[in-house]
Amino acid sequence: MPVSRKFQLCASVGLIFLVSALPSACAFGSTNAPSHEFHTEHYDLNIEGANEQELQAVVESLFVELSQFFHGAPKQRLRVQVLATRENFMDAVRADMFAVVNIDRLDGIYSPISRISYVRAEPTDIDLTRMNLIHECTHQFHFLTRLNAQQSPSCYYTEGIACYFGMHRKVGNRIEFGVLSDPERFDRTNQALKSFERLHSNSFYALVTDPSQKPDFMEALALVSFLIREHRDLFDGWSSALDAGANPQEAWSKTNAPSDARLSEEFVAWVRKHQGVWARGVGSWRASGVNCFEGTAPQQSWAILLPTAPHSSLKFSAESADASTLLGVMVGYAAPEDHLIIEVTADGLVWVCHRDRWSPDKTLRRAHIANPRKFSVAANNSGDLVTVAIDGAEVIRLKVPKESRMGLAVYNGTATFRSVESK
Ligand SMILES: [Zn+2]
Repeated sequence: MPVSRKFQLCASVGLIFLVSALPSACAFGSTNAPSHEFHTEHYDLNIEGANEQELQAVVESLFVELSQFFHGAPKQRLRVQVLATRENFMDAVRADMFAVVNIDRLDGIYSPISRISYVRAEPTDIDLTRMNLIHECTHQFHFLTRLNAQQSPSCYYTEGIACYFGMHRKVGNRIEFGVLSDPERFDRTNQALKSFERLHSNSFYALVTDPSQKPDFMEALALVSFLIREHRDLFDGWSSALDAGANPQEAWSKTNAPSDARLSEEFVAWVRKHQGVWARGVGSWRASGVNCFEGTAPQQSWAILLPTAPHSSLKFSAESADASTLLGVMVGYAAPEDHLIIEVTADGLVWVCHRDRWSPDKTLRRAHIANPRKFSVAANNSGDLVTVAIDGAEVIRLKVPKESRMGLAVYNGTATFRSVESK
């Protein structure tokens, strides 16, 4: 996930609002993407590329949210640059901050030197651009409101907060921040629990007092979300002390926290309870609505979305605008190299592809699908037997390993999967 690639140093790192747009020619970066300046109520933005109006509305909406959360707001105007290309993004950051580690892998950064938030726009993914913008602007707001522009002693805290607000959902023209409900999340919770065990030996105290400058982002998100949602009094005490400059141990000691054993157990249970249903297998996936996912596979490859646990049934409708993109359902998933994909070819035939023996052993089934770019799928797993129906007619019945999983699959392009239901 993009935030995991973010810069690792803390220090470097609604509603629709009426905004005044003042376009002007402005040369940032090394390529010629046109950029425009905009001045909203609280922000001065320089935006290259598309979605200018929406991005302005997002930061103003975030400003209201963060003002309530932090009980205050920066006194100065807030500067933001959204860069259209990676080259432009790196040029702008280098000109501001000199040496930045792994700059070629960053999607955004807040500069404590100039106090500017830099964000690299994702050309085909406004959801990701919005998330990166919210993440960096949360750092900016936090640093300028509560931290007196000083580096925080806890990156688990600052990154956790930025990730928490970055988890958002767009509902019409309104943005909801700090959204934890399915199906927006993928398998973040599993990642968080693995890190909790590996880095902190399943001790909440070890996590909350960790002074590391290189936090695990999923664990940081889980930590802050848990405290905000379940122990707001602890969060407020910890947060106030940290923002006043206390080190993480001092800050936690000022709270009235239950025993480590009790809190550690409660934390794990809470994270498990908020486990996402879906986990990214391979390729790029995003939730594009309620029970709706969009999957993108690079040329000549598959993208697979996995459920985090076996389901006995899976239903969805699949659609792609591109004739060279193949849609399918994955069944019998036992391992990354051990599963089957049932796909519909461009001429409407159904194939079974064995992941471990790909194209040479494709098995053709005689079913013919009327529209290979748009059809519905219903798959049922009775334990070791899977039946798959396409557009209401059974097309295949296969033996699969017990407890194997079923999922979504797309080959060579982008597809949308709607009304996804699993039981
Ligand atoms: Zn960050």
